[in-house]
Amino acid sequence: MTLSSPLERSAIDKAVGQLKFRTQAFIDGRFCDAASGKTYVSVNPATGKPLTELASCDIPDVDAAVKAARRAFDKGLWAKCSGAQRKSVLLKFADLLEANQAELALLDCLDAGKPINDCMTLDAPDTIDCFRWHAEAIDKEYERLAPTGPENVGMIVREPLGVVGAILPWNFPMQMAAWKLGPILATGNSVVVKPARQTSLSALRLAELAAEAGIPEGVFNVIPGSGSVIGAALCKHMDVDAVAFTGSTEVGRQLLEYSAQSNLKRILLELGGKNPQVVLESAGDLDHVAAEAVSCVFWNMGENCSSGSRLIVHRKLKDALLARMVNVAGEWTVGDPLDPATRIGPLIEEAHMKKVLDYIESGKQQGAKLVLGGERILRETGGYFVAATIFDDVQPDMRIAREEIFGPVLSVFTFDTEEQAIAMANDTTYGLTASVYTQNVGTAHRVARALRAGTVSVNCFSEGDATTPFGGFGQSGFFGRDKSIFAHYQYTELKTVWMQLNTH
Ligand code: NAP
Ligand code: MG
Repeated sequence: MTLSSPLERSAIDKAVGQLKFRTQAFIDGRFCDAASGKTYVSVNPATGKPLTELASCDIPDVDAAVKAARRAFDKGLWAKCSGAQRKSVLLKFADLLEANQAELALLDCLDAGKPINDCMTLDAPDTIDCFRWHAEAIDKEYERLAPTGPENVGMIVREPLGVVGAILPWNFPMQMAAWKLGPILATGNSVVVKPARQTSLSALRLAELAAEAGIPEGVFNVIPGSGSVIGAALCKHMDVDAVAFTGSTEVGRQLLEYSAQSNLKRILLELGGKNPQVVLESAGDLDHVAAEAVSCVFWNMGENCSSGSRLIVHRKLKDALLARMVNVAGEWTVGDPLDPATRIGPLIEEAHMKKVLDYIESGKQQGAKLVLGGERILRETGGYFVAATIFDDVQPDMRIAREEIFGPVLSVFTFDTEEQAIAMANDTTYGLTASVYTQNVGTAHRVARALRAGTVSVNCFSEGDATTPFGGFGQSGFFGRDKSIFAHYQYTELKTVWMQLNTH
């Protein structure tokens, strides 16, 4: 299935008609029903109607997947093959993803309500690029020798952890799968993936394509189902060596407890954010700032851990910048995610929409000034659409100032001095991303280093690319970084081999 650029609605509709959903679990190289035979219904968030039914896995399925993963690891068909061999299989996998990228994009669009244009031009290419980057890195890294005397050789080597669990969120289904799986597979581990209940279709297709590319059976398993049941079971499993997670801080915290209660497995957490966008007096071209700032907060419906949901702007620039942002946001068409012109689709599900609307209500109640949006829209579609929303005059103790909303809601604050701006930006329990706008290179360096965040982008909104680590300070994360060679290190154990030489 292919879709040519520019995207056309008629071609998209035709492709949707040809889609085939993989809805069973993928364990030990084949699709299978949940052992219980149970299924659950997943809903299309753009219509509120059922999309398909998937296997609802339970604890016996977790055990089966972990057993298959362990068996594959022990056989060494993946873990012990040469780096060059793993590289070649993962590159073939990336080629297959490229050949099927329209299908993968449509799956995420239907499952998550993400605009098709984003899925085709951002999510799918980033996913492919991510696997290629990690594949290419495999045979470029060298091990180390310790600086011993002549009687010894101290080899410092890295070995795969074994069986790794990956628990995924619903906001970037295939992309978050790639950010975890790229380095997990590159370093020779076996993996059991627990995709988000709402968005499991692309992960199941990835597993099928991985098998086609030659990843041995048992190395890559996917079990759809409830996080509190099978996600928790994976985290408490005595034969799982690590779990990589992206999602809420609340669930992330629980994972650390599961680890402590079971086998002290390594837990890598990528969590939420309440990310500042700092616009200094020296910001320069406000049209540029407005375009980037709108994208930073509203892209992916604001359902993004790096959404810049706090705009911290110099008092002198605020009115001019806000006027421009309201104009730019007006150009962000809200609507059917299958329409190539759509930039804001529905929120993921009804309960989440209600949570976002509740935050909007609290902003109004607590006295913030509503400048844009502030309500549910397109009700007649049955979908969970919320208008892009901007609040001005937000006070630091309001809920919309402090809590992650995970929806299209911006809170605006003003400052007079650079010190105030930095203090306001860092006044959060989170620390995932931040942006700063200034035309002064010295100021850019100074402020970028003063902001307590894992990624600081200067004069733009960016999460970096495959070469740069991504993860958070504070309660935005724990131990882990996605992307880059640093992600390889966390999926390996460090081993010392100390050899006594025969020196006579
Ligand atoms: P969540 O509950 O943290 O879910 C993330 C993943 O963890 C899902 O696969 C989920 O399974 C699973 N899970 C849930 N409870 C679990 C448990 N006890 N043990 C192991 N795994 C478990 O996130 P959510 O409910 O989807 O969204 C809630 C909030 O989290 C959002 O409003 C947002 O603030 C934040 N969030 C952040 C990110 C991010 O990128 N950092 C992504 C998504 C959400 P299910 O499929 O059953 O839910
Ligand atoms: Mg949840």
